[in-house]
Amino acid sequence: MPDASSAAPNPHLAAYTARSLKGRIFSGVQPTGNLHLGNYLGAIRNFVRLQGQYDCLFCVVDQHAITVWQDPKELTQQTREIAAAFLAAGLDARNNIIFNQSSVPGHAQLAWIFNCVARIGWMNRMTQFKEKSGKDRENASLGLLAYPSLMAADILLYKATHVPVGEDQKQHLELTRDIAMKFNNDFNAPDFFPITEPLIFGAATRVMSLRDGTKKMSKSDPSDYSRINLTDDADAITQKIRKAKTDPLPMPETEADAEKRPEADNLLGIYAAIADQEKADVVRAFAGQQFSAFKNALTDLAVARIGPVGSEMQRLVKDPGYVDSVLRDGAERANALAKPILDEVYRIVGFLRP
Ligand code: ATP
Ligand code: MG
Repeated sequence: MPDASSAAPNPHLAAYTARSLKGRIFSGVQPTGNLHLGNYLGAIRNFVRLQGQYDCLFCVVDQHAITVWQDPKELTQQTREIAAAFLAAGLDARNNIIFNQSSVPGHAQLAWIFNCVARIGWMNRMTQFKEKSGKDRENASLGLLAYPSLMAADILLYKATHVPVGEDQKQHLELTRDIAMKFNNDFNAPDFFPITEPLIFGAATRVMSLRDGTKKMSKSDPSDYSRINLTDDADAITQKIRKAKTDPLPMPETEADAEKRPEADNLLGIYAAIADQEKADVVRAFAGQQFSAFKNALTDLAVARIGPVGSEMQRLVKDPGYVDSVLRDGAERANALAKPILDEVYRIVGFLRP
């Protein structure tokens, strides 16, 4: 199985690794709708695999969510759902910190400073901003433009060294590194913020829409048939895989062949990730077969492996008292970690603490 340890060492982190035995992980998921297979395979399942190896903070990033309109009642509910999904996937709330972003004011406080460090040109180049603002860029929220600056604050408020994410967030992590470097440089504070390392691994770092193999699977896609939600039951999973777009040819013979056929490539990647196999082995196993046979096998696999996570998530959502207690405890611990770092940033910037 490809894993995080195969990544090349980050020379910028030497100073940090020398000081502490474990690195620190921060990662967030937005409460913007239904969690899907992409979030699970690209991010949450990797969080579960990394816990224990690092000090980890896993965050429901509600302040990021409101960069596009969210119904307030749904936002509250979706925040609990993401926390429930973290727990259902197997994250341990005692050994990791699980919390929601708006409960720790340091995120917004540091983001403001980063808004003054980062350049407008950097933000304008972000593909997520271009995609989410669409044709009507003038009408996008200012928060949507500044999103990567808040994301840098999320990570650097804890001096996190590693960030597990899906492929789509790579560009934002590069910007986080740019912000850290510029801050360290502008304020003559060498090594103050770490130059964070992304952890992007597994066979499904970019799961594509089931309706369009060139578009990322997203919570905010209006078509429910574009994604498999973690809470979908066996019937829904079966329907969605059956209807998933394919091409008229039989299954590809080689990986290179698959790469030229986005829909086939996507489904093969999903299969490999869920089954924990190399994609090349999955391609070999189904080479030349009809899509219907492959889709049946994929359906059985998805129902068997994803179904239980969804059921556990739904069970937890029915116990908001418990979920809230996990988030409350997490916020307290996150605040305690953030406070001395933010105090130091304020001192470096020159804010008077009378
Ligand atoms: P939205 O459409 O609201 O942005 P999203 O589906 O992109 O929602 P996020 O909350 O933005 O979800 O991202 C949570 C995590 O899931 C991030 O680490 C992101 O990189 C990862 N992720 C999101 N979509 C995919 C995908 N299609 N494949 C793999 N990883 C993904
Ligand atoms: Mg996203």
